[in-house]
Amino acid sequence: MKQLKERILRDGKSLDGGILKVDSFINHQMDPILMKSVAVEFVKRFAHLPITKIVTIEASGIAPAIMVGYLLELPVVFVKKAKPKTMENMAVAQVYSFTKDRTYDVCVSKEFLKEGDKVLFIDDFLANGNAALGIIELAKEAKAQILGMGFIIEKAFQEGGNILRQKTDIQIESLARIKTLALNQVTFED
Ligand code: 5GP
Repeated sequence: MKQLKERILRDGKSLDGGILKVDSFINHQMDPILMKSVAVEFVKRFAHLPITKIVTIEASGIAPAIMVGYLLELPVVFVKKAKPKTMENMAVAQVYSFTKDRTYDVCVSKEFLKEGDKVLFIDDFLANGNAALGIIELAKEAKAQILGMGFIIEKAFQEGGNILRQKTDIQIESLARIKTLALNQVTFED
């Protein structure tokens, strides 16, 4: 996706430890015009699948997910990173966070993710794939089926993409695949 790659080159900042900062247009300040283009591209790539629900994980996935849900006219569910005291009957899975270097629980009400749901999962980044693997576990527990996973940015030099593509039959799509990330220098696959 040319527009996205150009924006990453212009406004993305690469930090130590293989982290790309995109907080001026994706995950702090957000550019809704870019987000709309991102959602249109996801819809193109996943339109052939019989999706019934969009699922994401708070917080950075919510903006692209709701745009996709709006375009497809489907409900959007965000998985929570902390268990709300009032929530019962939940599916829970564990996720290791690469950026925070700790393990946390993710959870979703079985009222909103359940048997019969055919899910498209949307998130901002695919890195080591831990969040995505946690979501796959969560969906399994809730008896929902994941048909597709769409990421705005994949850091292709990390293992998540390979793991998901080799170990699952889920359709995996990333709109910008980063090959290398050095201080203020980003290169893309393709
Ligand atoms: P994974 O579980 O695939 O290792 O990492 C996915 C999550 O970690 C994403 O949802 C994102 O929030 C965060 N993340 C991983 N790498 C980066 C990065 O380079 N930049 C930012 N901003 N977030 C990242």
